[in-house]
Amino acid sequence: MTSERRRKLAGKIDTSSIKTTTLFSFVMFAMILISFLWVLTSFFMDTYYQRARTQEVIMTAEVIETQYRNSPAKFSGYAAETAEINGIYIRIDDESGSVFFDGTRMGMSSSEYADDIARISEKLAADPTSSVTETRHSASSDSAARLVYAANIRTGIRMSTLYIIAPLYPDQTTIRIVKNMLSYITFILLSVAVLLAYALSRRITLPIENLTKSAKELSTGNFNVKFNGASFTETKELARALNKASYEMEKTDFYQREILANVSHDLKTPLTMIRSYAEKIIDISGDNPEKRNADLQIIISETERLNRLVTDMLSVSNLQSNNVEMHRETFDLVEAAEDVYDSFMVLASSQGYEIHFHPCKSAYVVGDRSRIMQVMTNFVSNAVKYSGDNKFIDIQLVRGNRKVTFHCIDHGIGIPSDEVSHVWDKYYRTSANHERDIEGTGLGLAISKSILNLHSASYGVNSEEGKGSDFWFEMDTVRKPSSRTKAAKPDNTPGESNGKEA
Ligand code: ADP
Repeated sequence: MTSERRRKLAGKIDTSSIKTTTLFSFVMFAMILISFLWVLTSFFMDTYYQRARTQEVIMTAEVIETQYRNSPAKFSGYAAETAEINGIYIRIDDESGSVFFDGTRMGMSSSEYADDIARISEKLAADPTSSVTETRHSASSDSAARLVYAANIRTGIRMSTLYIIAPLYPDQTTIRIVKNMLSYITFILLSVAVLLAYALSRRITLPIENLTKSAKELSTGNFNVKFNGASFTETKELARALNKASYEMEKTDFYQREILANVSHDLKTPLTMIRSYAEKIIDISGDNPEKRNADLQIIISETERLNRLVTDMLSVSNLQSNNVEMHRETFDLVEAAEDVYDSFMVLASSQGYEIHFHPCKSAYVVGDRSRIMQVMTNFVSNAVKYSGDNKFIDIQLVRGNRKVTFHCIDHGIGIPSDEVSHVWDKYYRTSANHERDIEGTGLGLAISKSILNLHSASYGVNSEEGKGSDFWFEMDTVRKPSSRTKAAKPDNTPGESNGKEA
């Protein structure tokens, strides 16, 4: 391959991809294994072979001794076979010093060991009761090392001597076979490593590629796409998370469209009214003070409506970004609820609402009194707005174990079960509103939710369509403050948003 082609190919290979990394790791692993095997065979085979051979010779010697003692008649045949099988030279001299047995493997000549036997005999004479061994090398090469073994065998009163000489190097054929085998193993190991790396990387990358494909489709706005994590726990988990994210994105996208439509509608209606009444004043009622004042009054109330909407929008965005000052103090929630109740009494008497207040004994909580009152006011004004023909409203306070719960219960239009969870969302207004054309911004409950979160309060709604709703929130109670601490300085820390929606 020319260097130019190699450079081009290297440019195409993504070195950080899973496929390349897996392939590289597997091949590296195989190479390390193979190198280890080669080093072992090349450098340590002789040492290992010599040690194993020595052990073997000592064991064989013990067997030969036993055989010689027990059945000397059959010994020759046995010893010749042992010498042949083990590739060793065996000799036994009887007590007179004459050779009783002299057996060797084919190709080994007993005469060439005469010198070895003379030397080991001297060593044995110095220590006649135990076996002696010696490793001897040919003058020419180290690989021609051999083990010389000698031991006296006592049978009754007779004393014989056993000599064994064993070459301590594997023969060339064995070495060639082992090296050949190693070459095959190298080839097989490398092929298996490449195949395994390919199979494994495909198994791993396939679900990732599928997920990437689906994610690309999702990015084009196709929310129907389904993520499939195939067979791995991790990719399945990722697919589940992406499916959830895609569902949430679809929801957000839907609500954003809704919100835009609602907000534009809510802004447009008062603006149209203001414009039409201003034109009416110019064209018709300008000279008639009574009619003009009535028209101006409508303009003012529409401006107020616009103002309310914009204030709510700012308020919810500030609350949700935690960009608000909290004036925390210890106050009696029951007393605050009573103030809210009082503020609705005028409305109750003028418009025929029956609002009932069911207090419990004082329950002190820590929080921003005016913001908590804003929440209660929102619950009660919603109850009034959505009470329909049944104008009974109950404001209830219930004390539990170190808790106090505020309930605002109406018997009005209620909320369809599939919409209950959305009423706390920004700009969300239930389908019933559109039918009845009830005025609102869809921001009151989102503001309440943010305030309650900042107070770490639990909150929720129990509602049934056509039967009414019970909006509630629950706060931790604290001890009644002493008269000195009651006027506690407000703590202006922005709250943490960790409330629980029930
Ligand atoms: P809005 O200004 O529209 O009242 P909110 O955020 O206060 O905005 O309420 C959101 C929606 O929740 C309302 O539009 C209404 O559809 C529904 N809702 C709130 N309170 C009640 C209630 N007491 N009964 C029935 N529906 C309610």
